Amino acid sequence: MGRAFVYVILGGGVAAGYAAHEFVKRGVSQGELCIVSEELVAPYERPALSKGYLLPEAAARLPSFHCCVGANEEKLTPKWYKEHGIELILGTRVKSADLKRKTLLTATGETISYKFLIVATGARALKLEEFGVNGLDADNVCYLRDLADANKLVDVMKSCGGGNAVVIGGGYIGMECAASLVINKLNVAMVFPEAHCMARLFTPKIASYYEEFYESKGVKFIKGTMLSSFDFNSDGKVTAVNLKDGNKLPADMVVVGIGIRPNTSLFEGQLTMDKGGIKVNGKMQSSNSSVYAVGDVAAFPVKIFGETRRLEHVDSARKSARHAVAAIMEPDKTGEFNYLPFFYSRVFTLSWQFYGDNVGDVVHFGDFMGNSFGGYWINKGHLVGSFLEGGTKEQYEAIAQTTRLKPAIQDSAELEKQGLGFALTL
Ligand code: FAD
Repeated sequence: MGRAFVYVILGGGVAAGYAAHEFVKRGVSQGELCIVSEELVAPYERPALSKGYLLPEAAARLPSFHCCVGANEEKLTPKWYKEHGIELILGTRVKSADLKRKTLLTATGETISYKFLIVATGARALKLEEFGVNGLDADNVCYLRDLADANKLVDVMKSCGGGNAVVIGGGYIGMECAASLVINKLNVAMVFPEAHCMARLFTPKIASYYEEFYESKGVKFIKGTMLSSFDFNSDGKVTAVNLKDGNKLPADMVVVGIGIRPNTSLFEGQLTMDKGGIKVNGKMQSSNSSVYAVGDVAAFPVKIFGETRRLEHVDSARKSARHAVAAIMEPDKTGEFNYLPFFYSRVFTLSWQFYGDNVGDVVHFGDFMGNSFGGYWINKGHLVGSFLEGGTKEQYEAIAQTTRLKPAIQDSAELEKQGLGFALTL
């Protein structure tokens, strides 16, 4: 059994949705394109799963957050794909890829052939088992990567209203889930090994603002230690979290956000890898000229930093996907992907954005007692990264633009004095 397409997108997440939109914009013909996805639903805006999806009231549900609603463009519902002659092959895992024959083999035994393949397989949540802790099958241990995970999290949250939730991991999944758990009236403790939350991005000063805010909402931080094991009841449910420092935390539920791993296994040995992902050039093209990679799975040259990076953020998934489609459909008119790394988060009433790179020395600015402050990262005499909490659209645009320009910074004290004004007047 087999089907043939000109273009095949493997994976049905954020990048797949934006790629499909770009194909349509550029005039793909009916029947030329298909999306093969393990998920049961058409591509959606994954960040909604840790935000609107977890609200106790008026929670976001599909179809409200199908791609590309996150970019204020049309919403790609299953009807949209049908109208544009795009085949959605859902609930279908691809189990092997033969790049010489240009075919994918699905778990149901179907062969799908392509002329151009866009790999958009994203990443999966790291599991505790990979760190030697059992608990994966417990009914009240949750991860959050896809809709099925989010549904489990909602069910578990509802079943232990007012109880104790332990969040393992202090990254953005942990932070966003902790906020949602509080909003759902659970008592929340966060456990992570670092000295402060969001350690990969936040400075201690920025982190302490968020930690104090969370503490004012009742979140307890347990830092500098890790989970060592769980206690279970006779139903196999976790009842307590044992920490390496000897403490025990009572738990009615556990949420684990300890990082992700790119889904590259289908292509190991067939494509060149880098930074844990599929290495691509500035056109998102891999070491096999018919295969492109986009989103979380792609390691691409970030021109502004002069090096290859793999980013795990929604904006880069959206834009790299669009760029790959442009490069496939109009190769002569499409240059190198020129991307400024950007990521954001929204928790409680707070909202921050970050552009660029967080290397070098940091100059903080603004009112850390209020709700509008930020930081600039200065590396080798140039501003290379900007963070802002509580900005307006214009202010975020200004820090993005400033970071893109990488201005030379001679006087850090002067930059600190000017603060946001520096970006607004540059
Ligand atoms: P994904 O969206 O993960 O899609 C991958 C797809 O490939 C999935 O559909 C998967 O089922 C499918 N797939 C994988 N392997 C196979 C296979 N063998 N066969 C068939 N299908 C397969 N980023 C931000 O910048 N800001 C945020 O606030 C933010 N919030 C987030 C909140 C949550 C809960 C999560 C999980 C992520 C968040 N992110 C955020 C990150 C962002 O969502 C990702 O960067 C983005 O989804 C990456 O898109 P992608 O298409 O590369 O991968």
